[in-house]
Amino acid sequence: MIKAVMNGGPDYGQDVGPLIRAFFPDWDNTIEYGTHENETGEDGTIEFRLSQERFEVVFKCQGKEIRREDDFSFSPPGCYKNSGLPDRRMYRNHLHRALYSCLSEATGKVLPWGTLTGVRPTKQAVEMKRQGVSDETIVSYFGNEYLTSDRKARLACRVADNERRLLSGLSFDDTFSLYVGVPFCPSICLYCSFSSYPVKQYATFVEPYVQAVLKEIEATASMLRDKKLVSIYFGGGTPTTLSAGQLEKIMKKVKSCFNLTSLREWTVEAGRPDSIDEEKLRAILENGADRVSVNPQSMCAKTLELIGRRHTPEDTVRAFDLARKCGFENINMDLIAGLNGETAEDFRFTLERIGELSPDSVTVHTLAVKRAARLNAEMDSYKDSMSGEAHLMLDLAEKYMEEGGYEPYYLYRQKNMSDNLENVGYARPGKEGLYNILIMEECHSIAACGPGASSKLVRTGEEYGGGFMDELADDGEYKVRKIERAENVKSVKDYVERTDEMIERKRKLFV
Ligand code: SF4
Repeated sequence: MIKAVMNGGPDYGQDVGPLIRAFFPDWDNTIEYGTHENETGEDGTIEFRLSQERFEVVFKCQGKEIRREDDFSFSPPGCYKNSGLPDRRMYRNHLHRALYSCLSEATGKVLPWGTLTGVRPTKQAVEMKRQGVSDETIVSYFGNEYLTSDRKARLACRVADNERRLLSGLSFDDTFSLYVGVPFCPSICLYCSFSSYPVKQYATFVEPYVQAVLKEIEATASMLRDKKLVSIYFGGGTPTTLSAGQLEKIMKKVKSCFNLTSLREWTVEAGRPDSIDEEKLRAILENGADRVSVNPQSMCAKTLELIGRRHTPEDTVRAFDLARKCGFENINMDLIAGLNGETAEDFRFTLERIGELSPDSVTVHTLAVKRAARLNAEMDSYKDSMSGEAHLMLDLAEKYMEEGGYEPYYLYRQKNMSDNLENVGYARPGKEGLYNILIMEECHSIAACGPGASSKLVRTGEEYGGGFMDELADDGEYKVRKIERAENVKSVKDYVERTDEMIERKRKLFV
């Protein structure tokens, strides 16, 4: 049982929480405050004794006291001299390193990203590259400042290069992307935290959903006439749980309502191989989508059964071959590292099977145990099958992707990922998914339709300094300055009954 106590001084409770969780995922996120005497007497207590001038981090673990202390006379380490880090951030980073060192010694764990716990660890590399800082300097800065491994820092540099290349020339002020969410799946995966419904049990909601989303798409188009649509993404859920006719209806509605002359990409996440057939693929292709995702997650039959996917590796091969035969020249495949019951060798097997298919892009996720997932609720039954080898799997993926001619082009993290690892999108040149970068970097507006969809208005322009408008926020991440959101209700029943209200929420945001 881990207990965190903040004893006096500046309040860094919010800052140290994610790092404690990275070492102890079961920690209950509670920080106690006040000046407590002898807190370290209790086993499992991490105590922070802070003042403006110095600090101590003490961790009592298995009867032993691990202690780090320092005064605040330090200057930023590393060679990124013009970092302009505000004092609070310097203090925070110093404290993080001391905490990391205590917890790493106690647990024997090494986190490849070191003390970096934010969603977009590459963001700072992008910013440094923009200022002309070299790869070597960035790698050394990440190592000194955040204890990030050379391997991950170099990955961040490669992603930053590719991301900058892909976004160059795209204006953010007058463009937007469209997302359409389909909230049904053939079955619900063990780790799923999305609001998706098993299509057979919710069959009576499918047609009302289609009618509602058609209405929402039409109304949304009328709100964004002065902006250019550059990318469309149909996700969910699994869009291909709809019939070919329903998919066609929705795609035709998009084509008739929006001006597609600036469109650079249209992705339909076919997703589950057990939902794909030739009629649907032809409907998708003939209506203008040029990129599909066929997602195996794993090519090990025993894993697919354990995680409730209800399709076989052979179904994946069949769906992939069908998509190629229909004429898709840009096919993505999603994999998950760290799935229950898998070893690094199982993951290597998956990479080799995927390599034989030669998809145009591969997105490698790390398993994240989200609160809303069945995996979390039933953790007692699955604890023994949790994989401890996700970090090895990601290293393997990097190697196989490099050998296959793929470049990493976007990278992000979610909460509760094992070992604080990452998701990486790899693609062959020219086959990248632009929408993936746009949504992660939050650099332009997204109009989103369907249950649970979240629309974003990103304000850019002169008054915010133009371009990315990044600023160094207190939590150490670079953030776009002004984002407003409108959320749709998650339940498909509510969505169908309250479509007009969802449209109104969007109107308030965009008009
Ligand atoms: S396919 Fe995706 S959205 Fe559907 S249940 Fe599985 S994880 Fe959830």
